[in-house]
Amino acid sequence: MKETLALRGGPRTVTRNFTWPVFDESDVAAITQVAQSGQWGNPDCSGLVEKFENEFASFCGSKYAIACANGSVALRLALMASGVKPGDEVIVPPYTFIATASIVVEANCVPVFVDIAPDTYNLDPNQIEAAITPRTKAIIPVHFAGQACDMDRIMAIAKKHNLTVIEDAAHAHGGVYKGKKLGSIGHAGCFSFQSSKNLNAGEGGLVVTDDEALYNMMNSLRNVGRVKGGQWYEHHYLGCNYRITQFQAALLSQQLARLEEQTRVRDTNGKYLSSLLAPIDGITPLTRGHGETVHTYHIFIFRYDKSKFGGLSKKEFAEMLAAEGVPAFMGYPKPIYEQPVFQQKNFMCYALPDTVDYTRVHCPVAERACYEEAVWILQHAMLGSKEDMEQFAAAIKKIQHAVRHD
Ligand SMILES: *Cc1c(COP(=O)(O)O)cnc(C)c1O
Repeated sequence: MKETLALRGGPRTVTRNFTWPVFDESDVAAITQVAQSGQWGNPDCSGLVEKFENEFASFCGSKYAIACANGSVALRLALMASGVKPGDEVIVPPYTFIATASIVVEANCVPVFVDIAPDTYNLDPNQIEAAITPRTKAIIPVHFAGQACDMDRIMAIAKKHNLTVIEDAAHAHGGVYKGKKLGSIGHAGCFSFQSSKNLNAGEGGLVVTDDEALYNMMNSLRNVGRVKGGQWYEHHYLGCNYRITQFQAALLSQQLARLEEQTRVRDTNGKYLSSLLAPIDGITPLTRGHGETVHTYHIFIFRYDKSKFGGLSKKEFAEMLAAEGVPAFMGYPKPIYEQPVFQQKNFMCYALPDTVDYTRVHCPVAERACYEEAVWILQHAMLGSKEDMEQFAAAIKKIQHAVRHD
């Protein structure tokens, strides 16, 4: 017998509610302590900020960490400190948050979009070399959804062409590629602590690196161009105030203590949910990378084939799934280069060469992911139980059953 969909007034398949962030009295106490200390910010980025930087650097197995205002700024600091010049080209994927590409323009450089691979939705290493020109200076691979990019291939290409690799690890705190923490493999790795991310302080960002010169430059750029050992009113570089507060740092130290266990739970659930969804006709979970990897499942992504769901669009499908109680949605509706900012080059004071025209860019895999295929389940749902994963699969089967013979 067909069950009535929750969207049409039937009972929800998923019985519990999922909440994020996860916190307790110890987080509240840490923030209260900062409030009572009167040291809410730290102009020289010492104190709790430095403490958290040391903790996160050692968590990643990196030498240095620079905490900053947010993940977009983290990317911007890393790219600017890498020594790019106006007009240099930077390779980015088109299926990511806007900042991965917009910070490139903010550094007076040209984002060059290279398509994603159909089975992982990460930058397709087979297509990178064809996009490299004499002006290419950097690659920003995004560990999308928390799945490691093919870093061996990317680092080999970068070495051959003398390029800087800046990992966008905004989804990937605690993820692992062949025994190494994501973010610690390239020349710099950038993280976001925005409220939806797996490590969260409301807002915040951080860059890890092993390169002392890069570290010193990022340290200066985030602190209005001051340098270590310099005077307070002595500004050497064109930086800005990109600092983080002591409140954020205190909360991040607290939250970091939970991250390893939360990552393990998401990774275990992700593998299990993949095994439950793979047999469903028209549902294909993304392929997991090989080797010794930990997927952080900031997003659990599967590919949806509407022909197996009575022609139901993925948007309608995702809405039905959400109504069944699965924290799901359709994700990005279009690739970054289709945003008005790139189509119309609405860059305000930044200028790209006239030859750059984003209306001519097409990345078919990213377009298919956006328009047709990709459905996202959000990370806090992946902190649930085995039974929750079984209910997610049941919700999909219920929808399929209901719409197939409509
Ligand atoms: C969130 C995010 C960023 C930027 O982080 P903010 O802290 O929001 O500025 C960069 N890249 C990706 C892939 C992200 O998801």
